[in-house]
Amino acid sequence: MKVTKIVLGNIETNCYIAVDELSGLGAVIDPALYTPSLLEAIKESGMTKLQYIILTHGHADHILGVYDLKQEYPEAIVVIGEDDDICLSSPNCSLSSDLGLEQKPMHADKLVKDGDTFFFGGIEVKVVATPGHTPGSVCYLFGNTMFSGDTLFCRTCGRTDLFRGVLTDMQESVKKLGMLSGDFLVYPGHGISTTLDAERKTNRFMRKIEWSLL
Ligand SMILES: [Zn+2]
Repeated sequence: MKVTKIVLGNIETNCYIAVDELSGLGAVIDPALYTPSLLEAIKESGMTKLQYIILTHGHADHILGVYDLKQEYPEAIVVIGEDDDICLSSPNCSLSSDLGLEQKPMHADKLVKDGDTFFFGGIEVKVVATPGHTPGSVCYLFGNTMFSGDTLFCRTCGRTDLFRGVLTDMQESVKKLGMLSGDFLVYPGHGISTTLDAERKTNRFMRKIEWSLL
């Protein structure tokens, strides 16, 4: 699987374009904004068809490009954790209202929950529910590649002080990721990529220290 990262918007969200090289199918993870750079990156990726638009959670800085991208690629299946689908129709839940951003209401095509699997070309995608940052935050495992949204970042984890955030849920979610078997290349929603093994060793939240600082 080939993965390209582009950074979109004022909050510098990582949007990923994944291509299954065997099937030629493509996925966009977290289209933060609908921009010429996003369309260009999709074209340059070499994908033959955009199969999925995959959302790690429903915050505005991860979803505002979805509506227009779906118009451009109507066959693409919009995927989100079931408890964050409401964010796609509620500017209060997505924080678009707080940020003064316009949001066109919509719903996802496919709602996922913990343990769900689906196929992206020949790659089995596993869904790991990781509530805390938002109730419907999920991480997606594409083989040994993880898209971790705003749950796990390089050396830190997502904030829980925003609307619908729950600190104790985040603690459990970070622990759950740490207990997955094997190593993963981790692509987070903001900042640089990392690996799960590196986070197991150095991420103070995964090592259960400093929760009181959140
Ligand atoms: Zn977020």
